[in-house]
Amino acid sequence: MKPPPFEYHAPTTIAEACALLAGLDDAKVLAGGQSLVPLLNFRLARPSHLVDINRVRGLDAIYERDGGVAVEALARQADVEDSEVVARVCPLLSAAMRLVAHRVIRNRGTLCGSLAHADPASELPAVLLALGGHVVARSTRGDRVISAEQLFRGVMETALAPEELLVEAWFPAVSGAFAITEESRRHGDFALAGAVRAAERLALFGVAPTPVLADPKDPGRGLQPSGDLEATPEFRVHLVRVLARRVFAA
Ligand SMILES: Cc1cc2nc3c(=O)[nH]c(=O)nc-3n(C[C@H](O)[C@H](O)[C@H](O)COP(=O)(O)OP(=O)(O)OC[C@H]3O[C@@H](n4cnc5c(N)ncnc54)[C@H](O)[C@@H]3O)c2cc1C
Repeated sequence: MKPPPFEYHAPTTIAEACALLAGLDDAKVLAGGQSLVPLLNFRLARPSHLVDINRVRGLDAIYERDGGVAVEALARQADVEDSEVVARVCPLLSAAMRLVAHRVIRNRGTLCGSLAHADPASELPAVLLALGGHVVARSTRGDRVISAEQLFRGVMETALAPEELLVEAWFPAVSGAFAITEESRRHGDFALAGAVRAAERLALFGVAPTPVLADPKDPGRGLQPSGDLEATPEFRVHLVRVLARRVFAA
């Protein structure tokens, strides 16, 4: 499949990228392209403009701040996976990264792109939620901090405004036990369901339109996951009960 026509923009600074997003009608940010390009090729997305941020300089740092680790928009998932800072400050994030797709996809895909894409079966939004992290969104109006609780709004829907660039995600260090586990048909596939533990907090993914916080003592309560060819709603609820038990036994 070929993508529908669009106008291509390649800014080299954050300010230029924000000015483009503010001025253009119906523009999308292109980061690693590992989710957006398939959507374009299947014509499930038809933006008029693509703002490719890959040439923006100084937007790929992974660094310690405020008792946690910050990951900028162009840090690749593989860089986060290999990062000594992430392994030391937030090893839950290192563990989660190894469950995302395959290494070739992680070589190009970005952590911030995964958060902005907000696939309900994605690991990283659930990790951000379990840890109580946040993202920083920049526009020509300035910076806005959006907590994980406020960021995820629905299936592939976030609180980011069309003119905002997600410049950084911040994950606090875990104080206490942590674990992530998921069930998928094949290694590297999106999960049928998954569970993340950060101390006594439990976040689930793949069982609601967004990642959700759940009661570790009754993780299936109130869940109404959708069914598909791979799993019925009942099976998904069963899975999260089993997976939640596993992360709390870890
Ligand atoms: C075969 C395959 C298997 C996969 N398996 C998994 C999996 O198991 N788990 C998982 O979580 N993901 C999986 N993915 C998705 C992959 O992790 C993507 O890399 C990720 O979802 C998006 O990151 P990206 O940098 O490629 O973003 P892009 O594809 O470039 O963009 C995705 C969306 O986010 C927006 N966006 C990106 N960056 C920003 C930003 N800085 N500011 C504002 N908006 C932004 C774009 O406009 C677009 O709407 C898989 C992908 C493939 C192809």
